[in-house]
Amino acid sequence: MKTLLITGASKGIGEQIARAFFANGYNVVINYNKSEERALKLAQELNTFAFKADVSDYNQAKALVDFTCSKYGRIDVLVNNAGIALPQAVIQDTTENDFNNIVGVNLKGAYNCSKLVIDKMLSQGSGNIINISSIWGQVGASCEVLYSMTKAGLIGFTKALAKELAPSNIRVNAVAPGFISTDMNAHLSQDDVNEFLQSVPLGRAGSAAEVAKAVLFLASDDASYITGHVLSVNGGLE
Ligand code: NAP
Repeated sequence: MKTLLITGASKGIGEQIARAFFANGYNVVINYNKSEERALKLAQELNTFAFKADVSDYNQAKALVDFTCSKYGRIDVLVNNAGIALPQAVIQDTTENDFNNIVGVNLKGAYNCSKLVIDKMLSQGSGNIINISSIWGQVGASCEVLYSMTKAGLIGFTKALAKELAPSNIRVNAVAPGFISTDMNAHLSQDDVNEFLQSVPLGRAGSAAEVAKAVLFLASDDASYITGHVLSVNGGLE
């Protein structure tokens, strides 16, 4: 059986990715940081393990990877999904602390987990890494400069790592969602959401389950000749 390690799977897109892989026969290890109750409930439902780790901390990321290997012996797919988006503010109103937090989770978290998992994938002779970027990493968003920067960084990380690991039969891709209804957007007013959705050609928000299907495809053998790619799941936003 193949094994998925998914970061930030206590809710939202990560939860749906965990569910989709489980439904496709994978062992799944669910990482969470703060939402313990939700993570444990999901783990119970999927008859698997939830492991608390702040992925921005190298030692905690290492404990997560070691735990996954100790339970299932291999890691076939790593999805770097854990992410934070706040603060939404003009750059002058952001702080060094904001910068360190968002870079720590969104970029360093992906670096930490990938670096640690790659050792295992190299010894297995195969693997798949999928990074959850964002439309804002592709086109940039006003008042989300830090978030856009980290999500653009994940695209560069994906493309470079794909070239580095292709000779080792490890594929690396990214998924760039548009507006997906999750807790990450729950602070927005319905009026603001409706106004934004008018700019989406398909005219609606995406679901976390729709993002999960794209991730599942990239991890599958159907995508065996795809690496270094950024798959947009955004309803046609540009
Ligand atoms: P969400 O519902 O807020 O979920 C975020 C997840 O990340 C949670 O499971 C959270 O775990 C986890 N997380 C946060 N900090 C962490 C840390 N330090 N260590 C480990 N896990 C951590 O948001 P979402 O919408 O599902 O977002 C998932 C990913 O999709 C993010 O990378 C986000 O940037 C990206 N994305 C979202 C959208 C959107 O419209 N929703 C669009 C484009 C891209 P705890 O709650 O347990 O701390």
